[in-house]
Amino acid sequence: MSTTLTPTQKKIDEAIYKVPDFPKPGILFYDITSIFTQPQAFALVMQEMGRLYQNQSIDGVIAIESRGFLLAAPFALERQIPLVLARKKGKLPRKTTACSYSLEYGEATLEIHIEDLTPGKRWLIVDDLIATGGTLEAVCKMVEAHKASVAGIFSIVGLPFLNYEQKIGRYSPQTLINYDSE
Ligand code: AMP
Repeated sequence: MSTTLTPTQKKIDEAIYKVPDFPKPGILFYDITSIFTQPQAFALVMQEMGRLYQNQSIDGVIAIESRGFLLAAPFALERQIPLVLARKKGKLPRKTTACSYSLEYGEATLEIHIEDLTPGKRWLIVDDLIATGGTLEAVCKMVEAHKASVAGIFSIVGLPFLNYEQKIGRYSPQTLINYDSE
């Protein structure tokens, strides 16, 4: 837990359900889905996200399956910019581009419809939580490989003790609340 929380962070912290030993012993799971059952907390998160990027030029949002969808969709609608979904392998029907990254056990792959990833545009990449940063790094590299650029990274929660700055610090990750240890 962060030592000093702002009043806003305190409200966000209170809205996040923490589940010990999920999905396996020793992991504290930050279940941000509890935010969506509390409309005031959801509104607060969207307000804070909007504030972070209000003066920034962003051409579109890439949302990471699945909880990233829930944050990226209202943001893109409010800003009237395109929303592109990064989905788990095998879900998208049209021609895709893919990126793979390491999980604790094995590998995972995310795919984007290639025609949606417009070259030359500035994309905000959105997920619910940054742990090691491996997922977001893979998506950022895929964006760059298609001659587009990363305008930033947004997540509600950051776990900086897992050193994600080393992987994705250059993409200016923004979080609303950080936790020091699990
Ligand atoms: P990483 O690629 O290591 O940054 O992992 C980030 C992804 O894993 C996000 O999509 C999170 O939803 C999920 N994740 C990793 N650790 C946790 C955790 N302690 N609580 C909730 N979700 C997590």
